[in-house]
Amino acid sequence: MRDFKPHINKTVESIPPSGIRRFFDIASEMEDVISLGVGEPDFVTPWPIRESCVYGLEKGYTSYTANRGMMELREEIAKAYRTRYGISYEPKTDCLVTVGVSEALDLAMRAILESGDEVLIPEPCYVSYQACAKLAGGVPVGVAARPENDFRITPEDLEPHVTSKTRALLIGYPNNPTGAIMGRSDLMKIAEFAEKHDLVVLSDEIYGDLTYGDEPHVCFAALPGMKDRTILLNGFSKAYAMTGWRVGYVLGNQDIIAAMTKIHQYTMLCAPVTAQIAAIEALKNCEDYKRKMVAEYDSRRRFIYDSFKKIGLQCFEPKGAFYIFPDITSTGYTSEQFCEELIRTEHVATVPGNAFGACGEGHIRCSYATGIDQIAEAMRRIEDFVKNHSKK
Ligand code: PLP
Repeated sequence: MRDFKPHINKTVESIPPSGIRRFFDIASEMEDVISLGVGEPDFVTPWPIRESCVYGLEKGYTSYTANRGMMELREEIAKAYRTRYGISYEPKTDCLVTVGVSEALDLAMRAILESGDEVLIPEPCYVSYQACAKLAGGVPVGVAARPENDFRITPEDLEPHVTSKTRALLIGYPNNPTGAIMGRSDLMKIAEFAEKHDLVVLSDEIYGDLTYGDEPHVCFAALPGMKDRTILLNGFSKAYAMTGWRVGYVLGNQDIIAAMTKIHQYTMLCAPVTAQIAAIEALKNCEDYKRKMVAEYDSRRRFIYDSFKKIGLQCFEPKGAFYIFPDITSTGYTSEQFCEELIRTEHVATVPGNAFGACGEGHIRCSYATGIDQIAEAMRRIEDFVKNHSKK
């Protein structure tokens, strides 16, 4: 077969495939595998959401929508932010409906970055952040968030990485993969830092509805002076169990939204109409369903956290999202070795921490978006593995 590598764009060629994928591939060839690897709800989308889509199709809603998304959906999104965070966005100009947060991330980077602009990205972080920055011609600059600071990022961590080319900061709290959250006082310091260096802040708040305990989610854009500076990304995949529908949105300054809309209009045209109809239903009538799913994640979170403590692996208590990020260094394995041996001997799929940035080495990511019985069995197997296979 002819080698077509020379025809591939150099930037694309330089991007490694996601470190998560490899373990799915191993798992797919095995029997009796329990997966704590996937970052997707095990719930089916609540019925009223599915039903609204079915009705939409019955009524013949099958065409394109406005590029920016259906006005009713943008109004519902703006209403949700007004009610929940007291922040007001104009649905006509400040909101764009996208094909998930994934598209929103890509558009945001492409809309603001010039070639060579640097983007500060606290790590460990979601696997797409670095790649999106690179594909937009930017330079991702990973900044390690320290486990001893509960994986929260501080201006002191960020400051040494600022250069004359630093243009933006991309934060994602509640965090994938650590489950860390940032409280109001933590975020106020980040806001001051962004102001000082005149940075655009991309805030990925896709797990904003999934927080546990007393500290509610703080919306970065709602902090004093941050609304115009922030490109706020959110979507329906996680909180409403709608990963396959592919719908998300972005809120922000009208000039930035207009620039993102321009790219979206030429590359995507609009988000799927069926998903937009479903998203309207989610925002209008499905708070109770969401609350029940969050309560279920919370009880799994407590169970899995206690289990890791019993096993004797050091572990930060996650406060948001649906991941836990235990430290496995006491076993004598690297993250990759641990995950490989665990799946080979015990048939439990997890993700090595270094897939989320080099500073994730020494950890593994386990998702608790899996039924409690499965989690209990996985924890029994992990306990056996740590007892019988540790190298130390
Ligand atoms: N942002 C984070 C932090 C994620 O974990 C994910 C998916 O795992 C996404 C964005 C992608 O979300 P969407 O399904 O809306 O594209």
